[in-house]
Order: sequence, then C-alpha cells, then structure tokens
Amino acid sequence: MSAGSKRTPGTENDPLFSMRDDRPAGLLRLIIGFMTVVMLTFVLVEGWRIWRDYRQAFESAENAVTNLARATAQHAEDAIRQIDAITAALAERLEGDGLARMDKPRLQALLRQQATIMPQLHGLFVYDASGRWLVTDQEVTPDNANNADRDYFVYHRNHTDRQVRVGSAVKSRSTGDLIIPISRRLEHPDGSFAGVLLGTIKVDWFVRYYGAFKIDERGALVLAKRDGTILVRRPFVEQVVGRSLANSEIFRNHLPYADEGVADATAVVDGTPRLYGYKALRSYPLVAEAGLSRESIIQAWRHDLIKTALILLLLLGGMSAFGWVVVRQVRERLAIDRALKQAHQTLKALALTDSLTGLGNRRRLDAVLEQEIRRARRQDYPLALVMIDLDYFKLYNDRYGHPAGDQCLRRVGELLQGALKRPGDLAARYGGEEFILLLPDTDADGAVSVVHEILLTLRRLGMEHAASPAGVVTASAGITVGYPARQELNMERLMAAADMGLYEAKRLGRDRYQFAVVSAAIQP
Ligand code: GH3
Ligand code: MG
Ligand code: MG
Repeated sequence: MSAGSKRTPGTENDPLFSMRDDRPAGLLRLIIGFMTVVMLTFVLVEGWRIWRDYRQAFESAENAVTNLARATAQHAEDAIRQIDAITAALAERLEGDGLARMDKPRLQALLRQQATIMPQLHGLFVYDASGRWLVTDQEVTPDNANNADRDYFVYHRNHTDRQVRVGSAVKSRSTGDLIIPISRRLEHPDGSFAGVLLGTIKVDWFVRYYGAFKIDERGALVLAKRDGTILVRRPFVEQVVGRSLANSEIFRNHLPYADEGVADATAVVDGTPRLYGYKALRSYPLVAEAGLSRESIIQAWRHDLIKTALILLLLLGGMSAFGWVVVRQVRERLAIDRALKQAHQTLKALALTDSLTGLGNRRRLDAVLEQEIRRARRQDYPLALVMIDLDYFKLYNDRYGHPAGDQCLRRVGELLQGALKRPGDLAARYGGEEFILLLPDTDADGAVSVVHEILLTLRRLGMEHAASPAGVVTASAGITVGYPARQELNMERLMAAADMGLYEAKRLGRDRYQFAVVSAAIQP
C-alpha cells in the first residue's frame, strides 16, 4: 500500500507530518567506523610489537657475536702469547750461550717442563741453521729429521725480523696432529742465521675450546690468519683448514677499515647466511670470527610471528563476522523502523483525510485550526475562516441520485483545493455538503475575494441542478476574520461567526456570501 496512489494534499509541508530522520545511517556508520578503528588498532599494535621483536632479535644477536668474537680472539691471543714468551726467553738463552755450547739434556728437561705448564702446547723444537732437530721437548729426537723445507724455516732463514711468526696449520712430522707453528729466528752474535725456535699449538686445542660454546648448530667460529688462511673453524672439518677467506665479505669489505665489527654475510665455506662478529687480534696478525645463522636468529621470532598472525586473523575474522551480524541486524531493524514510520505516516494521513474528496477532514481541521490560532496570536496576523454550504443539495440528491451527489461533492472539492494559493491555506470537508476554508494571514478583503472567485467559478462550472432556481449547482458562504492576538478567540467562536454568516447568506436568498463579525457576546 502506498500513500502516493491517492495523494493527500498538503501533507508534504505540513508540520503534522514531518518525520524525516537521519540517525539510522549515522548509527551504522558509527558501528562500522568503531569496528574498523578497533581492528586497525589491533593490527597496528601487533605489527609494531613484531617489528620491535625483530629488531631486538638482531640486536641481541649482534651482542652475542661481538662477545663471541672477543672471547675467541682473546683466547687465541693468550695461547700464542705464552709461546711467544717462552720462545723469547729460550732464544735469549740459546743465543747468549751460543748454539754450539748448548747443554742438550738440561735444555730438553726445561722444554718438557714448560710443555706440561702449557696445555695448548703440542711441542717445542730447536733447529739449527740447516734444519736439523737439535732439541725438542719430546722423549726421542728423530736422528735424521730435517725441517729445512718447512715454510717457517724458509721464512726465518730469509728474513731478519725477530718477532714471533704464526704460520699456517700443518700436519706434525712427529705426531701427525694438525698444528699451528709459532716460530722465531735464532741468530749468531754476528747476526747471521743460526736456526729456528718453534712452538706448536694443537689445532685440537682450539677445536675443543670452540666446541664448548653454546651456539646454534649452524653457527660458526673461525680463527684465520690476517691474509685469510683458515687455521681453525667450528664446525670443524679438516679440509677447511688452509682454505682462504681472502675473498669473503669481512676480509674484503670490513677488515681493511675496522679491526672489530659486525657484518651480515653469507659464508664462503658453507654458503650459510650469518650475522658475524669479527675481531683482529691485537698482537698477532690473526682474526677471530663468530657467526650465528640468520635462520637461528629469527627462528623464535618467526614462530611468534606466525602465532600472532594466526591469532590476529582469527580475531579479525571473528570481529568481522560479529560486525557483519550486528550491521545486518541494525540494517534490518532500521528497515523495519522505516516501514513502520511510513505506515504510521500513511495511517496518520488517511486518518486526517476525507475519503470522498481528498480534502482534509474535520479532525484535520480541528488540529490545524488550533495550531493556526496560536500561530496567528504569536505573529499577530488575521485568520480568515469560511464556511461553504451547497444550495438545495437535498433536492439535488433527490433528483439526480446519491452517487451523482457524491460526484458533485468531489468536483466542488477539487475546485476548492484549486482555489487556494498559499501553502498554509487549508480546505476541509466539515460535514455532508459543508466545507471550511482556513486562510491564515488573510484579512476580510482577501477572504471575500477568494470566496467571490469560488462562488463565481462554481456557477460558471454549470453543473445542472434543475431543482434549484439558479438551474446550476451554487453555494452559499459565511466569512469571518479573527485577530487572535487582539481578541479573546477560540475555535468555537470563529466557527460560530462563520456559521452565522452562512445562515445569513442562506436567508438572503443563497448563491452568495455574507461576512460576519466574531461576536464578543458569545462566551465559551
Ligand atoms: P440549503 O440550501 O438550505 O442548504 O438546502 P439543502 O438541501 O442543501 O439543505 P441541507 O444543507 O440541510 O441539506 C443537506 C443535504 O445534503 C442532505 C443530504 O441529502 C445531502 N448530503 C449530505 N451529505 C451528503 C453526501 O455525503 N453525499 C450526498 N450525495 N449528499 C449528501
Ligand atoms: Mg448543509
Ligand atoms: Mg445545503
């Protein structure tokens, strides 16, 4: 059902019918906005936390590799320094006494005693200028053993510098162990080459030390010479010893600029991406590196990320579903509300409408008249009321029949509605064939001219009425004008005055209007 099928005149601008409401859309927007803000906040807070955790994971890894590199470097430095010290003392003594006058048994006892003090020590050796073994800390000295071909021997024979030299790892001739040679040149008093003093450190000493650190299984610890040659590495594989790191990220791009630091690099040896800390030894041309695999650094973080993402997805999903349900329900409610309001409005309009003519009915007139009297009082303007009654209508019905009478009333209704010019004017069907016009802010002249026009038009319409002296349908009208701001005025008095005018018009012969003053004598 729609109110539009039979439009009720004058309801659009009427304050009685104004029910427009923008709240529903606002409420929906509020709900959706609120849920969006809540979800966004969740995502932002969690995102920020995850980003912070990622940073923290790398910060603590940086600390860990820095500490590891320092510990490894210090350990190597200490191990070598002890051998540096003992060989320095021995060299001083051998050169002072002269190699020829060496007391072998005593010296051997001394070497053996030193070896027991230093757990890293593999052996102590003295070679003469031709590379023959003179003394060692070991029980037996192989008779024909000659080390003149060894790299360190060749070096010291050709170089006069007196510092201790750390060589690349080699297999020991005496034990077959992998060893790192720490060697020193011996000289005759005239400065000529007298031989070499050698202390060796077992690679295994480092391997065991590195093995004791708790790092992830893909982590790495490396001790290398400054030229990049690997001496020891964890995880330890013999083949790796001697390989060069000269082309690695750290040796190429970091070591030349800083003795200590942190670097993100993929290992040359095993291709694992790691976060490395490195440190060059202070006293010897060696470098220690400690690396934790990127995988192990972010593993815990990634677990957390996945867990958080799942929870967040679940939460967002749940909230979206919840929001969807709420929004749908609110929408449904709003639709019902709208339908109810519309039905209410339609009913209200119907209740205030005359079904025959579509004009306002008596109820509407009562409501509007009350309102208009108050408004006219407030704003101090005249209020005109016109009562119109068709002439000899009983005879019309008698002659043409009741349905024709109804049709006539409908045409009069249209005429009246058409005669009204202002939105505030109201035409109502008051009773059988009586109509009322309410014309706010209209004085007597104005009302008279409106009525005059109406009666004239009706006559010109020429609806046949053979039973009337005029031959056509005519009407009589009573007009009154009230000033609610200046008079003691109410509905009844105004109506009574109009009725009086109408009565007068009928009495004077009909088909005319008569003006009547609101009577002060009539008291409510
Ligand atoms: P007067 O000139 O004095 O007004 O004479 P009248 O015959 O019009 O007298 P009155 O106003 O008393 O008559 C009212 C008549 O109007 C009675 C009835 O036959 C007719 N009437 C009232 N309501 C309706 C209606 O809804 N339809 C029709 N067709 N006629 C109606
Ligand atoms: Mg009548
Ligand atoms: Mg009549």
